[in-house]
Amino acid sequence: MSAMHEELALLLQAMPDERRITVAGRQFWQGHWQGQPVVAVLSRIGKVAAATSATALIERFGVGRIVFTGVAGGIGPGVRVGDVVLADAFVQHDMDASPLFPRHEVPLYGCSRFATDPVLNARLAWAAQQVLARVALHLGPAAVAEFALDAPRLHTGLVASGDRFVSTAAECRALQQALPDALAVEMEGAAVAQVCADYGIPFAALRTISDRADDDAHADFSRFIREVASRYSLAMLSMWLTQQP
Ligand code: SAH
Repeated sequence: MSAMHEELALLLQAMPDERRITVAGRQFWQGHWQGQPVVAVLSRIGKVAAATSATALIERFGVGRIVFTGVAGGIGPGVRVGDVVLADAFVQHDMDASPLFPRHEVPLYGCSRFATDPVLNARLAWAAQQVLARVALHLGPAAVAEFALDAPRLHTGLVASGDRFVSTAAECRALQQALPDALAVEMEGAAVAQVCADYGIPFAALRTISDRADDDAHADFSRFIREVASRYSLAMLSMWLTQQP
């Protein structure tokens, strides 16, 4: 699952037998990749769109696990543009039913954080490390130079989701204060994590850091996704799928 077309474009090109199906106004591509049956979907942006897409994947296509790839703003210390974050849990930073429930707690779930699947995470972390160890090979030297990628790293930890593109330094600081252990911010993951928890479906998410969620966050977004993030996703997911038992 990805939010934006640029994020999914290379992956779709790599699925030889993909068949497009429209459900709930969004496009799903069903086929095979690296010998595995795969359904790819463009969720579009935001928590509700992501939840609808995840529900359709589970109810309509019967998927056994979901992996999200895309971009995110880095808010943790040392989480730089070009790094990759593997979410070990998600929180909705804009969920606030206080004083009825503690801030960030999802009402009537009794928790604010939804963990991702440890088995998927271990395999994806391995795949991500393989790709990050050879970025020039996967992106080409021109992209490495253009985006000043310098030994990009994999970080594992909390990712915060909300229906807001975080693009001011002040908003970023407020998030860092409210959720000091959050590594990155995006707009879909926590919704998918909650749907997957409801259905008991393993879920994982890999996000390439496209910006620092500050006043420069909007710069060259599409180009970064095309040249860096979508290439990372293709290489990492391909590596992961070829290692499936
Ligand atoms: N400029 C883009 C905006 C896309 S919204 C456009 O015109 O289409 C941002 C998307 O990238 C969302 O899907 C979200 O999950 C992710 N994202 C990347 N950086 C983010 C940030 N700083 N805050 C919130 N979401 C971010």
